[in-house]
Amino acid sequence: MPLSNKTALVTGAAQGIGRGIALRLAKDGANIVLTDINPDKLKDVVAEVEALGRKALAITTDVGQRDQVYNAVEQAQKTMGQLDIMVNNAGIAQVRSILEATPEEVETIYRINVQGTLWGIQAAAKAFKAQGSKGKIINACSIAGHESFAFLGVYSSTKFAVRALTQAAAKELGADGITVNAYCPGIVGTDMWKVIDQRMAEETGAKPGETYKKFVDGIALGRAETPQDVAALVAFLASAEADYITGQCIITDGGIVYR
Ligand code: NAD
Repeated sequence: MPLSNKTALVTGAAQGIGRGIALRLAKDGANIVLTDINPDKLKDVVAEVEALGRKALAITTDVGQRDQVYNAVEQAQKTMGQLDIMVNNAGIAQVRSILEATPEEVETIYRINVQGTLWGIQAAAKAFKAQGSKGKIINACSIAGHESFAFLGVYSSTKFAVRALTQAAAKELGADGITVNAYCPGIVGTDMWKVIDQRMAEETGAKPGETYKKFVDGIALGRAETPQDVAALVAFLASAEADYITGQCIITDGGIVYR
């Protein structure tokens, strides 16, 4: 198996894309450290990882709190022996006109999406260096990190920032053999899109379900993305097959944004 004897830490792993990534990396042979702010749902994913025959460790962590992210990485090393793959997946969406965004909303989304990714990169890179091992850091970006969307302007700006952090980290850490990349999904049918669709309805007057349908209808491959589609790219980036790829923010969207 491509990830035998590896340990991966996945943030925001209690549901959606993070859960999908955790299960795929476990299928590929990795032991998994699962972190999220939602401890109840994390328990279910622990059971699913263990059912695949891998070790699992759940740690309740808010990625917006630097000390909590460092603690999770330390616990991962202590419990599993070594950390090899860090997936900075946790993130939130906000739907709001550029004209109406409030300081509180902006502070919250930047703390989670941007600072959360930064703390994850820092903690993992320091751990990899201390271990004297090469490692892989994989961040959640988005098609919104390549092209900004109306009413998703602040969210999009956080994903542009993730792209900036990914590129700079790749340049700084290349000499240590640490790769830093990001996955950029399109329209994935998770709870995040339920919230986006509902808020779009409130902001634009669209009917419930209409915004999601409009976006999905625009996908070249004709269907919404699944967490498994995203996890397939992450599994590749986590594997030795991607050893010579760094600083890239790779789109997996079925054909929406072309770069
Ligand atoms: P989701 O809302 O279904 O799941 C997000 C998970 O992150 C939840 O389990 C939640 O509890 C957790 N979380 C939220 N805030 C946290 C915090 N401060 N600390 C730790 N955990 C926290 O979302 P998803 O669709 O699975 O999205 C996962 C990632 O993929 C996000 O970064 C998102 O921006 C990105 N993304 C999603 C889509 C999509 O269409 N769903 C598209 C592009 C990018």
